[in-house]
Amino acid sequence: MKKAEPRVIRLLMELRRMGVADTRVLSAIERIPRALFVAEPFLDQAYENTALPIACAQTISQPLVVGLMSQALEVGERMKVLEVGTGSGYQAAILAKLCRRLYSVERHKPLLAEAEARFRHLRLHNITCRAGDGSRGWPEQAPFDRIMVTAAAPDIPPALVEQLKPDGIMVLPLGDVGGIDQELVRITRTDRGIDIQPFLPVRFVPLVEGMPEE
Ligand code: SAH
Repeated sequence: MKKAEPRVIRLLMELRRMGVADTRVLSAIERIPRALFVAEPFLDQAYENTALPIACAQTISQPLVVGLMSQALEVGERMKVLEVGTGSGYQAAILAKLCRRLYSVERHKPLLAEAEARFRHLRLHNITCRAGDGSRGWPEQAPFDRIMVTAAAPDIPPALVEQLKPDGIMVLPLGDVGGIDQELVRITRTDRGIDIQPFLPVRFVPLVEGMPEE
């Protein structure tokens, strides 16, 4: 494998220090060049541990949040995973390195087109995307072993719980839309319903129902 750049190594060390311990997740972050996913004016910050603006007034998540969310999801290499909120495609690319098949839904078509071009460029052929309202999940492909939502909602979308396999895990930011009071939670589907564990205060863009006028 190609040797990682110094700024990538620095970022990986920072993530490790801040709690990303899963070696499969760290190796996925090492292998996916974040520079390909950020907008041109922010290229010099591609390997800094910070969220950055992308098109359609959205953001590419902070690398630490990508690391901790991916780790909390406990993705196995044979799993079928759903992501809601493709955005730049960066989180999808990381998940694609961890699982067998990744499905991702995005409501902004221009973002989706750019993300799909990046997946082709990186030869990530196990990703399937579509434009749509991801709060309804992807019923034709359900059930999923794992679900990750990368936009915040005040409540857990019921369709996503329905599309999760028994013992499946879902990670999502819950809380005030646009507010500062959001928390990442890890949900496990049990025989009796769901088990919810909050694990990190965060700030995400809102999960918006329906499609934008474009
Ligand atoms: N995972 C992305 C983060 C993008 S920000 C990345 O790695 O870059 C969250 C994304 O969720 C935005 O692109 C936003 O348009 C999208 N989104 C918000 N509500 C949505 C919905 N209901 N269905 C699908 N995508 C949604």
